[in-house]
Amino acid sequence: MSLDEYNQKRDFGKTPEPSGEGKPRKSSSKQIYVVQKHRATQLHYDFRLEWAGVLLSWAVPKGPSLDPSVKRLAMQVEDHPIEYADFEGVIPADEYGGGTVMVWDIGTWEPEVPEVDEALRKGDLKFQLYGKKLQGSWVLVRTRGFGSRSKPSWLLIKHRDAYASDDDITVDEPYSALSGRSLGRIARDNGGNVEQAATADPLPSDGVAAKPSTRGVGKKTGAKRAAKKASSSTAKTRSIWHSDRPKR
Ligand code: MN
Repeated sequence: MSLDEYNQKRDFGKTPEPSGEGKPRKSSSKQIYVVQKHRATQLHYDFRLEWAGVLLSWAVPKGPSLDPSVKRLAMQVEDHPIEYADFEGVIPADEYGGGTVMVWDIGTWEPEVPEVDEALRKGDLKFQLYGKKLQGSWVLVRTRGFGSRSKPSWLLIKHRDAYASDDDITVDEPYSALSGRSLGRIARDNGGNVEQAATADPLPSDGVAAKPSTRGVGKKTGAKRAAKKASSSTAKTRSIWHSDRPKR
């Protein structure tokens, strides 16, 4: 685990992203888990697990799915510093990863296997998530094909348990887990490209008026989610996500 590639790709005089030294935190059984919704050239979700002093990172183009029958491509990217976990803001357009970043989900994780390094080597890591949006048992499985030696491709899959669902979590929970803000709002607050960022926000939106729901922060119950679903089926989202929805 090294932050060399992370540091090489970034000019910390220009980007507000943290530079990091990869110092392990005081040991604790639960480590940081975070998903950052990132409207760069393409919208994607950066899935990160703290391990050995860094955040192991995968770019998930379609974002996570709660449906165990759905396998989401997750391209492994360079390790990120621990300090990245609560980064929410704007990366300047000309810099690496230029665009708007939202902390879409945050919490902790625990491996379901005794040897994480071995699981990573074998390309089969089972784990529990304790996030605000994602919970329960998941697996990352490395695949053949796609990707490359430096950017291997994995699949992110929900295991069948009480947290599995055919609800589309990226549609139902579009806002920041830290601030409740939309991507457009984060872009506006940080001098970014509001129009571009807002393409990944729910409609209706003029780029900044997407109403951060009161449900954007904190724990939600299934009952509340179901009630919201029933009451706002017309307030759905832009087609960028519709193409991700499982066919019913
Ligand atoms: Mn990214």
